[in-house]
Amino acid sequence: MGDYTVRCVSCKEVQPRYSLRCPHDDGLLRAYYEQRQLELSDLPGIWKFLCWLPVKGHMNVGGSPVTYKSQGFGREIGLKNLFISFSGYWPKRGALMDTCSFKDLEAAPTMQRLKESNAGTLVVASAGNTARAFAHVASRSGMPLVLFVPQASLHRMWTANEYRGPLCLVGVKGDYNDAIAMAEALSSRPGFTPEGGARNIARRDGMGTVMLEAATQMKALPDHYFQAVGSGTGGIAAWEASMRLMDDGRYGHALPKLHLAQNVPCAPIYSLWTQDPRAAPAPQCPKGMYDDVLFNRKPPWSIAGGVYQALVESNGLVYGVTGDQADGARALFQELEEIDILPAAAVAAAALIQAVDSGRIGLNDTVLLNITGGGASLLRENMTIT
Ligand SMILES: *Cc1c(COP(=O)(O)O)cnc(C)c1O
Repeated sequence: MGDYTVRCVSCKEVQPRYSLRCPHDDGLLRAYYEQRQLELSDLPGIWKFLCWLPVKGHMNVGGSPVTYKSQGFGREIGLKNLFISFSGYWPKRGALMDTCSFKDLEAAPTMQRLKESNAGTLVVASAGNTARAFAHVASRSGMPLVLFVPQASLHRMWTANEYRGPLCLVGVKGDYNDAIAMAEALSSRPGFTPEGGARNIARRDGMGTVMLEAATQMKALPDHYFQAVGSGTGGIAAWEASMRLMDDGRYGHALPKLHLAQNVPCAPIYSLWTQDPRAAPAPQCPKGMYDDVLFNRKPPWSIAGGVYQALVESNGLVYGVTGDQADGARALFQELEEIDILPAAAVAAAALIQAVDSGRIGLNDTVLLNITGGGASLLRENMTIT
């Protein structure tokens, strides 16, 4: 296990290990691991990164992302050094996450940490992939969980296994905000605990394993990192993992530039970044989005350690991607890489195409494209889904 202290990134004061907030200000808390160099443990899945996860032990669930060098898609768009991080189901490449999204990377360490802290029953609100990932991990680990999911999103609660154990799924009449309100009401009661979203260091460091896995495969940090974002937590996580890898000393000394992609017209982070009022999300959002898992009304934007700081320090930028652009990128990616991807991941692929077309990245630069979910169609061919 890797020992660590938890500090507020703003006032730098050490906080109790399991707190979600600094008592003095709004800054994010962050884990500062004692071990400066990344040392892989001989454990399955993401647990090989145990020294940089805020847990003591591991559980028997928690698949790892895989990184490989693209041939087809990279060549087609003109990139010589495109690496793909794939989270999902693709046995041929060793990807065995059968909920098919990188939300598994958050759910497993969060559940493990909860077990270690004896914090009670976890309460999660989600419109999609997060709920599926937490249900999967809870079911596999026997940990209790209450999920609030808008009724319109219940179709995303499919599973390739069977849900077991103390799992309570509540279909909420209303939208994601209504689900969040219900989750907040329940999690403030004794015996229940909120998952904390971007404030939860286990979620962020779990997602950060995408960068750790990629850097160990590539033997260096990439020049650029592309990801589709809703809350932007994955972007923060990639930035934090990159800082740890720089501190390690063996992976290079420049932060990867963050290229974060949102799905217009419901794109709050894009609108905050461009300061263009026309890009502000309409009241009817997320209706009509190419993928509504990318809609989050209150991203952790301006707080210390949040999305804005990650973008500024990495000299990054934000893209607005239309449904048509995403769909085009999805078709191209699926044809050339020979795997199906989730719509959110297609938004990231479309942003990469925009970046190349506009000359924002060099054709020899090393690029890491985070395919945050995929293989759902392949999974349906290979397994029975209920
Ligand atoms: C949640 C999600 C994202 C965006 O994640 P952030 O929390 O905003 O980083 C991207 N792709 C998929 C498939 C997702 O489920």
